[in-house]
Amino acid sequence: MSLTTAEKPATSGAVIERMKEHGHEEVLFCNDAATGLRSIIALHDTTLGPALGGTRMWPYASEAEALEDVLRLSRGMTYKSALAGLDLGGGKAVIIGDARTGKTEAMFRRFGRFVESLNGRYITAEDVGMSVTEMVNIRKETQYVVGLPVSMGGSGDPSPVTAYGVYCGMKAAAKFAYGTDDLRKRKVAVQGAGNVGHHLVGYLIKDGATVFLTDIHDDKLAAVKKEHAAVNIVKPDEIIGLDVDIYSPCALGATINDQTLPQLKCSVVAGSANNQLADEEKHGRALVDKGILYAPDFLVNAGGIINCAWERRGYNRDAALAQTEDIYRTAQDIFVRSREERIPTYLAANQAAEQRIRSMRQAGLSF
Ligand code: NAD
Repeated sequence: MSLTTAEKPATSGAVIERMKEHGHEEVLFCNDAATGLRSIIALHDTTLGPALGGTRMWPYASEAEALEDVLRLSRGMTYKSALAGLDLGGGKAVIIGDARTGKTEAMFRRFGRFVESLNGRYITAEDVGMSVTEMVNIRKETQYVVGLPVSMGGSGDPSPVTAYGVYCGMKAAAKFAYGTDDLRKRKVAVQGAGNVGHHLVGYLIKDGATVFLTDIHDDKLAAVKKEHAAVNIVKPDEIIGLDVDIYSPCALGATINDQTLPQLKCSVVAGSANNQLADEEKHGRALVDKGILYAPDFLVNAGGIINCAWERRGYNRDAALAQTEDIYRTAQDIFVRSREERIPTYLAANQAAEQRIRSMRQAGLSF
């Protein structure tokens, strides 16, 4: 599913049709006049466990656009958790509004009550436009929220754990592509010096890789450079065409597209950004044709959700990192499956996730 800005009639009939297309279980539309809350919560699949996925606050141009986004994102969470071996289903929420100007305590407490009304079938967390402050307000009304501050018994910022997972997935990809996971002689282009990119650069520099980094914000670059002097800063429009071994998208989605593909000189793509392939099927196959190994985004960026899952059990950072390390082995399995079945890696990953869900359902082990 791809985000579309095209207006679609969001009648109840159309919504159910969209849900049927990808097997969504439940969609809750939330409206509260007193706080101005307009939100949609989508539960894609709860076979493996409660649907866990963040809440995104975004000024969607239309209700139809918000619906498309929440359906697509919730489905992605089902696949991510299934492949990471978590006992969690896939869900997501969107709030229609401007995250810079439209937030109030009352709005998020009201949202918390909607989450609570689902009785634990949906657990929320942070996503684009949200911060710990909102999580704390949501927690006042429901226990079904993760990503709380460490001082409240939460797991804090998941980004360092996400970065560690990307690093593990990248090493697995290097092993498959070059026969060794030693990154010492590798040149890596990291796009995005944000929370994940910053930590990822740390792992790569420590391993002795040559790292190129870009961001649209100079202060982000300066912060990384201050900590890791060896990093090479390049301009945003230079990163795609760099002559490197590994391209690591850690900023936006859809950076593998018709325009960028001909410019890529790398042999591995492994990064944290969600939905890196503008068109999963078309660009997933195009990477294969170019001889580029793609480490599926939802496989290698699962460290954050693994971290959140540990918050539910009683947070243990070492255990979360240890489980995140499994991304290395899972990635290897996916690469082998892709080679043996002659299918792109994104498809091998999708099939592995679907297989796990199907086998639990067939065994009567659904949540
Ligand atoms: P972030 O907002 O902290 O960092 C993103 C960085 O990308 C920002 O510094 C921004 O300035 C930069 N950027 C934006 N557009 C750019 C462009 N065109 N060229 C270069 N840089 C650009 O976000 P983050 O938490 O580091 O997450 C990075 C990506 O990983 C996002 O796509 C996010 O959805 C995904 N992800 C993050 C986590 C997590 O735990 N934080 C988990 C899973 C997936």
